[in-house]
Amino acid sequence: MNFKSLELIDPLLQAVKAEGYETPTPIQVQAIPLILAKKDVLACAQTGTGKTAAFALPILQLLAEQQKGPHHASRDIQVLILTPTRELASQIAQNFSDYGRNLPFKNAVIFGGVRQHAQVRALRSGVEIVIATPGRLLDLMNQRLVHFRGLQILVLDEADRMLDMGFIHDVRKIIASVPKVRQTLFFSATMPAEIRKLSEQILSRPTRIEVTPVASTVDKINQSVYHVSKKQKTALLIRLLQDLSVKRAIVFTRTKRDANRVSDLLNQAKIRAEAIHGNKSQGAREAALEKIKLGHCQVLVATDIAARGIDIDNVTHVFNHDIPNMPEAYVHRIGRTARAGTEGVAISLCSTDERGFLHDIEKLIRKNIHSAPMPDGVVAESHLLQAPAPKRSHAGPGRSRNGPVLRVSDAPHAQAVHGAVARIAARGAAPHAGPRVVIRGAPAKPEHSNPPASPNNRKKRRKANQPKKG
Ligand code: AMP
Repeated sequence: MNFKSLELIDPLLQAVKAEGYETPTPIQVQAIPLILAKKDVLACAQTGTGKTAAFALPILQLLAEQQKGPHHASRDIQVLILTPTRELASQIAQNFSDYGRNLPFKNAVIFGGVRQHAQVRALRSGVEIVIATPGRLLDLMNQRLVHFRGLQILVLDEADRMLDMGFIHDVRKIIASVPKVRQTLFFSATMPAEIRKLSEQILSRPTRIEVTPVASTVDKINQSVYHVSKKQKTALLIRLLQDLSVKRAIVFTRTKRDANRVSDLLNQAKIRAEAIHGNKSQGAREAALEKIKLGHCQVLVATDIAARGIDIDNVTHVFNHDIPNMPEAYVHRIGRTARAGTEGVAISLCSTDERGFLHDIEKLIRKNIHSAPMPDGVVAESHLLQAPAPKRSHAGPGRSRNGPVLRVSDAPHAQAVHGAVARIAARGAAPHAGPRVVIRGAPAKPEHSNPPASPNNRKKRRKANQPKKG
């Protein structure tokens, strides 16, 4: 099965190809033909199954077909997608923009917690697709700043979560004021009684589809978590990558800066790693992907956004260097391994402040993640393996023209770091020159004792770190 056999039009096929999708997921196989046939759909599917493309692709196609027809309407809102969180709303909007890149349709995102002005302006500029959380949308509707007289398709995404979050009354009010003659698509991971009742009230002779819930995909993955302090994470990651003879891994970090830092430290430990994130050019990202696909590098260190849509075969391990604050992101991340029925391993490194996120994940996947004991020696090594502070130099943060530099500020400490890095490198790779350790005169200070970085003392610190002549 491929996307072409789902009878998608060329602009969508090209967009799907650009996203790197090769085969449609089970929910896409089932939902796309039904939606193209203008049927109401009741779909039991969780996030991570590819459900957004399952509704976004056929919706874009229906809009494109209608645009060609004789009754082409003006720039009225024709599609409304209700979703529980602003993150999901933004993600869906991004997906619509990506999949619709070769089509002329515009979308707007509406959610609370920010001023409404920009959202109202976007609505006034004329959009065909609105993706909204219920509270703010109802608010705008009550102010008569948005109307849905031309609405043709209504999508309820993650209906059960909207119930959990107390949005169901707002959802009912919104539905009561949109046209009754329309196509309705209803997505929910679970079907509690109230959600079933709502679905019966708003769907017209729906076709019910169900795909294997994410939980069972997740079950195929051997998951564990290490409870570890923030400062020990990278040393533990290095140890695990070496001890488990990891062949091909993706390491997820929360920030771009962490992706760079972790990738640098892995390379210092002779683990070939590449970072991909939003600050890297398209060319650099593609080069990194190519390297891991060809086996020229072993680890891709990525942020969630950069990792979205990337498809790499035979990823044996996924590491969460940081626990994602959105539980769905965990499912997306670990789903990069155990693709197409293979088995995979997902290892998370959880610091105390991330325990709440871990709890949310366990609730979503409905299982407790096995807690693994800390390997010996990591605590000691982590004291030594601290990231180089980002320095402003032409060669970029934490690097010199001669490669990565680990900076420490006193001689005994420097010797110790040398030892630790050499030990780490020796465990993992062929003999190779270790990273350069730069020794500075001033005694080491704990991180928190640094004064806040004012422009003045930043300059002083930079100056203190300059190599002395002679
Ligand atoms: P969703 O369930 O819509 O949140 O999608 C989960 C992830 O799967 C997203 O990162 C999508 O980009 C990705 N995805 C969706 N459809 C496909 C496909 N056919 N092949 C590969 N990845 C996909």
